[in-house]
Amino acid sequence: MSDCLFCKIVAGDIPSAKVYEDELCYAFRDINPQAPTHVLVVPREHIASCADVTGDNAALVAHIFTVIPKIAAQEGLTGGWRVVSNVGADAGQTVPHLHFHILGGERLSDRMS
Ligand code: AMP
Ligand code: ZN
Repeated sequence: MSDCLFCKIVAGDIPSAKVYEDELCYAFRDINPQAPTHVLVVPREHIASCADVTGDNAALVAHIFTVIPKIAAQEGLTGGWRVVSNVGADAGQTVPHLHFHILGGERLSDRMS
């Protein structure tokens, strides 16, 4: 999608602080971190949100979930971490390209909302 911020980041048209990449996904540091470690993992392919995960792209999402623990280990999150994916307005999704937040590096809030 030509007007999608994260598609532009994946394409390298907008700079980002790369954490990990492979042929299917790209991970970079959130520009406005909510924890000492705050990484976003996105599929290279444009998928709008978790609401658009189907049987056709579920393998890609499963792949991302094998990458997430590798990134957590790479970031030294030995005490634990949180994975979040916001969907739609009520969840405050601001970028309509599927992304998983990895948060850690401190004791996270007991509340998730
Ligand atoms: P969400 O609100 O779940 O859609 O998450 C979008 C995230 O993208 C927010 O945490 C933003 O801080 C982050 N973000 C927005 N623009 C950039 C950017 N250019 N580079 C890195 N992260 C960004
Ligand atoms: Zn996109």
